Amino acid sequence: MRLIENWFSERYSDNLQLSFRIKDQLLSIKTDYQRIDLFDTYDFGKLLSIDGTVQLTEKDEYIYHEMITMIPYYFNSKPSRVLIIGGGDGGAARRLVDLGIENIVNVEIDGNVVEVAKKYFPAISSSFKEKKVNLIIGDGIKYIKESKDKFDRIIIDSTDPVGPAEGLFSEEFYKDIQSHLTPNGIVVTQSGSPYYQPTALSMAHNGMARIFKYVKTYCAFIPTYPSGLWSFTMASSEEFKKRDEPTVTGKYFNKDILEGSFYLPEFVKNLIK
Ligand code: SAM
Repeated sequence: MRLIENWFSERYSDNLQLSFRIKDQLLSIKTDYQRIDLFDTYDFGKLLSIDGTVQLTEKDEYIYHEMITMIPYYFNSKPSRVLIIGGGDGGAARRLVDLGIENIVNVEIDGNVVEVAKKYFPAISSSFKEKKVNLIIGDGIKYIKESKDKFDRIIIDSTDPVGPAEGLFSEEFYKDIQSHLTPNGIVVTQSGSPYYQPTALSMAHNGMARIFKYVKTYCAFIPTYPSGLWSFTMASSEEFKKRDEPTVTGKYFNKDILEGSFYLPEFVKNLIK
């Protein structure tokens, strides 16, 4: 991360970065797990960065959060019990509450992310006030090892595969995940920018494919993430079947996106062959 004359920049490579002109830096803390920065930007409202990478902005967070929750929602049996690993901003839990999910467990490793979200992103983190949402501050990897619970969906809403999130992209973790899913349950993870982080996508896809019979990658356009093209990968032990029911339309998600986001560019297909 670089901060030059009121610009926050996320480095994508040695030769490219995306810069946001900022009105102010609202916070900068070093926690036991990571560095958290918060900026007030001109174009995207408040922006949360962890270890120099954009996690969410007020203006475009809806795309990521709709896509990580609503796509897997419409496949296989209607979910009633969902686990989120990561997601300390509350955005994924918010969408699940709006979809009418009755029982949500959200395991976030860093309580500071939750506190920052409560203070600076009250609308997004309002999910944590809901009775349906059980927020646990702890390591998602440890939780999965120790818990006996089963879930219809497991949403891995994590940072990129470095530091505390590295294990969340491992084959061993996916194996543990499988034992916590109901028979046609679905796990979904954010799998990075296919252009700038091809390894994150292949780690997620290939790791899941070694454990689960059915794996599907889909993409979305997220303007504040590296290259704008972002991937998500979901897996299940049973074939994916879209439920025959009307879809709720979000601000990004709609019935066409539910189908079209699975059509992948050739270079993305090649990464997950
Ligand atoms: N939308 C985001 C993105 O892809 O940039 C993810 C946002 S969310 C803030 C990511 C969260 O994952 C962080 O708050 C981080 O603390 C959490 N996290 C990382 N490793 C974790 C682990 N092992 N267990 C639970 N949460 C974890």
